[in-house]
Amino acid sequence: MALIATHGLTKEYRLGPHTVHALRGLSVEIERGEFVAIMGPSGSGKSSFMNILGCLDAPTDGRYVLDGRDVAGLSRTELARIRNGRIGFVFQTFNLLPRTSALENVELPLLYARRSARERRACAHERLAAVGLADRAHHHPSQLSGGQQQRVAIARALVNDPAVLLADEPTGNLDTRTSVEVLILLQHLNRQGITIVLITHEPDIAAHASRVLTLRDGRLVSDEPVFSPRDAKLVQARLEEEVPA
Ligand code: ADP
Ligand code: MG
Repeated sequence: MALIATHGLTKEYRLGPHTVHALRGLSVEIERGEFVAIMGPSGSGKSSFMNILGCLDAPTDGRYVLDGRDVAGLSRTELARIRNGRIGFVFQTFNLLPRTSALENVELPLLYARRSARERRACAHERLAAVGLADRAHHHPSQLSGGQQQRVAIARALVNDPAVLLADEPTGNLDTRTSVEVLILLQHLNRQGITIVLITHEPDIAAHASRVLTLRDGRLVSDEPVFSPRDAKLVQARLEEEVPA
C-alpha cells in the first residue's frame, strides 16, 4: 500500500463572489522511501497540495489516504495529532524561534509528545548531530548561516520520526552553494529511508529527486521518474572548483 494516496483531490478557495480552483482533481500515489519533487509555475497549486498532504488544510473534495488512514474527513484535533506525529515540515523561511538555541528549536515538537526532559534533549542532540550541527547546539538562529538554519529546521522536522518530510521551497532563500548543501542532506536522509516530498519551481533542484510531478492550473500534467538523479555531492565539488572558497 502506498504511503500517500490521493484520489480526485480538489481545493477551492472562496474569495467573496469568486471561487479560486487551486486543485482540480489530483490523483497521486507516493510509496515509502521515495524522493518526489513537485514542480509547477507559481499559482499552479503546489502549496495547496502540500498543505493538504501535511494535514494543515482539508480538501474541498476527494480522498487522501495517509499510511492506510483516510484523512480527508478527520476533525481538527485528529488532524493536529497526525500532523505532530507523522509529518515533518520544512519551509522556505526556516521558521525557527529566534531567541532560542538550535537544540531547543529541535526539541520543540517533542513537547507535545509527552517525553521526559532528558529524553527530549537526547533526541534533539542526536538529530542535530545527524544534520552535522552537533557543535552548534547552543547557537541561536542569528548566529547561524542560512544553510545551517535550514539544517536545524530539518533536524526539528525529523525529531518525531515522521512518516514523511514535506519541504516547500526549502532552498528558496539560499544561494546555490548552500542550496546544494541542503540537497546533499536531503539525499542522504532519503537513502536512510526517509520519504521526502520537495516542492520547488526550479528544475535544477527537482533534478536531485527520483521522481518529478508537474502541476499546472491545479492539474497533474506529468509524472516522470528521474533515471539518474543529480548527485548533489558532485555538484558541490564542481562549484568548489569554479569558485574557490
Ligand atoms: P503555488 O504554491 O504553486 O504557487 P498555491 O497553491 O499557493 O500555488 O495557489 C494556487 C492558487 O490558489 C493560486 O491561484 C492562489 O492565488 C490561490 N490561493 C492559494 N491560497 C489561497 C487562499 N488562502 N485563499 C484564496 N486563494 C488562494
Ligand atoms: Mg507555493
